[in-house]
Amino acid sequence: MNIKAINKWIPNLKRPLVIAGPCSAETEEQVMTTAKELVQNEDVRIFRAGIWKPRTRPNSFEGVGEKGLKWLKQVKEETGLLVTTEVANAGHVELALKNDIDILWIGARTTVNPFSVQEIADALKGTNIPVMVKNPINVDLALWMGALERLNLAGLDKLVAIHRGFSTSEKTEYRNQPLWRIPIELKRHLPDLPIICDPSHITGDRNRIALVCQKAMDVDMDGVMVETHPNPEQAWSDAAQQVTPTALASIIKSLNLKTEFSPDRTFEQDLGDLRSQIDRIDSEIIESLKMRFNIVERIGDLKMKNSVTALQVQRLDAMMKRIGDKAKKVGLRHEFVEEIYHVVHEESVKLQTEMMRSFLKDKKDS
Ligand code: PEP
Ligand code: MN
Repeated sequence: MNIKAINKWIPNLKRPLVIAGPCSAETEEQVMTTAKELVQNEDVRIFRAGIWKPRTRPNSFEGVGEKGLKWLKQVKEETGLLVTTEVANAGHVELALKNDIDILWIGARTTVNPFSVQEIADALKGTNIPVMVKNPINVDLALWMGALERLNLAGLDKLVAIHRGFSTSEKTEYRNQPLWRIPIELKRHLPDLPIICDPSHITGDRNRIALVCQKAMDVDMDGVMVETHPNPEQAWSDAAQQVTPTALASIIKSLNLKTEFSPDRTFEQDLGDLRSQIDRIDSEIIESLKMRFNIVERIGDLKMKNSVTALQVQRLDAMMKRIGDKAKKVGLRHEFVEEIYHVVHEESVKLQTEMMRSFLKDKKDS
């Protein structure tokens, strides 16, 4: 994919790029007050506000609609900030373009639907307006990449990814689990793609936004998008996760910014040495795994000859206990090691089940 660097279309860009503004545009006064406070903070470059809100249940506030676009236009004229809003269909795109919105974003609930993304891409053909694409709500990297590709194929190259976390049915400390490996994997596939973190939707909790902003900087993301409201408790949507413009300023000031490369030669050398140790260990782990699976196959053979099932729960329990104890003994988190072993064990059962299936088939055929 051919993607234009963000500093090619936003002049004098500093890291992190800060996008701020309310979850939803509520009133002209709320929008203008927020924008005027935010523009005092030179870190803030883009003003966000949702006009059409994808709400989980009907009969909740679904956004002010088209009239909010006039307020965003006014923000742009009075503060000089770039303005962005969410679009979910061709009608939204048409109205946003008509009202000179600078940047569009595709929400998490739209990224999941290739028909909607294609409709938006088609409506944007010939414009080259910047578009930010939020990750789909489910853990699906290909779907996220697919949305970016659809836009790119429509001729758009000012693309940005927004990491807003992933929905889960489990009760976790996050509103949406961050699963950092997913945006990191995206960056590995598309190194030129800027990635912005949305700590508001990840945490769902204003008190934890600073923590997630810092983590985003630590994994070398390009910026943050933080929901900001002059009176967060009174917000019409996502009240628990919005911060005041003053709180936002102190969050950004408190960030410890690291860069991906250091000019210090000894640092680079030490890092290189440690990394080759890691690479060596990783290759040993893979070789050990292969040895383990060779034995799994031999066990499979034995089980077949004795008509024993592939899965034996008692053995699994005993193995998990032994693994957990060993992990604790060497100072690793046992939950982490057990998670790995669940995957390894699943693969072993799969392998033995396949062996049995082809054994039975051969028997039938012969
Ligand atoms: C939003 O940014 O207000 C929003 C609706 O986000 P998401 O699509 O990530 O849920
Ligand atoms: Mn929101």
